[in-house]
Amino acid sequence: MSNQPLPLQFVMSAQRGDQLPEMKAEVAFIGRSNVGKSSLVNAITGRKSLAKTSKTPGRTQLLNCFSTDNGFALIDCPGYGYAKVSRTTREAWSPMIRGYLRHSETLQATVVLVDGEIGPTKLDIEMLEWLSQHDLAFQVIATKHDKVKSSKREKRKKELAAGCGLEQSAIIWVSATTGVGIDRLRTRVRELWGAAG
Ligand code: GDP
Repeated sequence: MSNQPLPLQFVMSAQRGDQLPEMKAEVAFIGRSNVGKSSLVNAITGRKSLAKTSKTPGRTQLLNCFSTDNGFALIDCPGYGYAKVSRTTREAWSPMIRGYLRHSETLQATVVLVDGEIGPTKLDIEMLEWLSQHDLAFQVIATKHDKVKSSKREKRKKELAAGCGLEQSAIIWVSATTGVGIDRLRTRVRELWGAAG
């Protein structure tokens, strides 16, 4: 069933993409700190604390690899733009993420998480532009659907899509809290992995 939880388990953390194990196919998850990435990884896997692994001190700046038994992976990338992290530190890990995204041979697409409540930040837009410039496929996910009042949703959906330079239909809205969009995201990740995922 395509909307069953993704059967992912933590495999390892790596300092560089070339240290990751060989996979059949993988999808990278990226977004600013606090966007809801850990909550979403838990929601799509149906596991309450799987993504805690990525938040373990020392692992927050690493590429965290979660995989199925048959070699399909989700690579959780470090969150960017955390206010307390100095610009220098951010720049220190950026080349690592960029190197991984550009050079992985099995990466199918990057899932870019944008906070649905606050819309795309400057760094989110820079990331989308950078992916486009390098011909790298991406899927934008808007998080925290439940935090946008229903009366404001249509307007917010339009604004968020415009801010990303995309059609509204290209964006998947999700909520880890209410479960909105979770089935759709699971199906999308399986599509990106390819039929065997
Ligand atoms: P990360 O830093 O990107 O991994 O983000 P977290 O998953 O830790 O979430 C950051 C904060 O947003 C936490 O306080 C979460 O409880 C909250 N959060 C995450 N997803 C949702 C959501 O779908 N709805 C609401 N209302 N809050 C969320």
